[in-house]
Amino acid sequence: MNDLPRISATGGCRDEPILKQRGQREVFCGLTGIIWLHRKMQDAFFLVIGSRTCAHLLQSAAGVMIFAEPRFGTAILEETDLAGLADAQAELDKVVDQLLARRTDIRQLFLVGSCPSEVIKLDLSRAAERMTEKYAPSVRVLNFSGSGIETTFTQGEDACLASMVPVLPKTDERQLLLVGALPDVVEEQAVSLLTDMGVGPIRVLPAPRADTDLGVGDNTVFALTQPFLGDTHAALERRGARHLAAPFPFGEEGTTAWLRTIAQEFGVDVETFDRVTAAPRARARKAIAQASESLRDKSVFFFPDSQLEIPLARFLTRECGMRAIEVGAPFIHKGIVGPDLDMLAQGPTLSEGQDVDLQLDRCREARPDLTVCGLGLANPLEAEGLATKWAIELVFTPVHFYEQAGDLAGLFSRPIRRAELLELEATP
Ligand code: SF4
Repeated sequence: MNDLPRISATGGCRDEPILKQRGQREVFCGLTGIIWLHRKMQDAFFLVIGSRTCAHLLQSAAGVMIFAEPRFGTAILEETDLAGLADAQAELDKVVDQLLARRTDIRQLFLVGSCPSEVIKLDLSRAAERMTEKYAPSVRVLNFSGSGIETTFTQGEDACLASMVPVLPKTDERQLLLVGALPDVVEEQAVSLLTDMGVGPIRVLPAPRADTDLGVGDNTVFALTQPFLGDTHAALERRGARHLAAPFPFGEEGTTAWLRTIAQEFGVDVETFDRVTAAPRARARKAIAQASESLRDKSVFFFPDSQLEIPLARFLTRECGMRAIEVGAPFIHKGIVGPDLDMLAQGPTLSEGQDVDLQLDRCREARPDLTVCGLGLANPLEAEGLATKWAIELVFTPVHFYEQAGDLAGLFSRPIRRAELLELEATP
């Protein structure tokens, strides 16, 4: 592809100073990722080695009944395990034997570490190696950590995908790898747009089943669909794949820029690109204009949680007319979110990490029209009269690409409209 029109960046934030703070944090743990990953990978089972708290978190967050035979479970560490009185590795072997004998549909088993298993230093990589030898080739056993110690909830998916990369077969095929667990309908839209431009072959990580022909090698180029996949990004580069850095596909502009980066790599001509994208772009623009009416000139403050904060701030400020006061992210990986930072106008405080009390002080002082934060902070802030949006909803709801752009704006406008209605009702 020759010269596709470039998006102008007016004084982006890539080189702006970043406020870095470390202190008490308010985030969910990485086990949360199992809730969407177990739906995506149809022959996988996620066995958390954790406490009753971990089991309760999964059970209540996933909302799946035990009799529905979910593809996740918890091997509960009892007091004897935690005190080192029992051989936890032998106990784990027994649990896995029973599980695989009963669930013959499992082809990939993930041993998922938790805070308790990390505290007692249970070596799950050794367990995974031992079990892979025992159950190969019918079951592949891998391990990753979903612990909440020093991590945030989207790192669970990253750790899971990163654990899969080293065992992917090598391929020399020139291919595009889309990386990130998207709802099927959204993934199909992306694949269909790219296929219509003539881009291919396209593979997806995670694949729905272990036996797909997914490989990786020097001729693989990959595009991330989520900004929280730093470890997976590093693991793919170690296997020789090349990252196509682009703004993330949120909103009309972000989706076009993401598609354009891939189209340029695969030599798609301008006419083809415009023909494929014109109609969905127009639909997205119209949907955003409708859904973002109540967002115009409103201010937004992001607490660090989902790692989507920077691309979403770019979307809200450029396409919905909002003003960002602070954009907090748990980690800022410029190799991944750099293109979004380029497009984010200077002005907001960029912050990385969290000292929650100090950040709450800044938020209270700024009194933003909308605060995007975790569940733990939302209710107290609502009680103080601030409209909030739960960051976790942005990961559970289909929000990527053109057809979801209006819904994405709608997720932010609803709490603002609700707050305005409540204010009207309260006015005598
Ligand atoms: S992994 Fe840690 S933070 Fe997550 S539920 Fe278990 S104990 Fe709690």
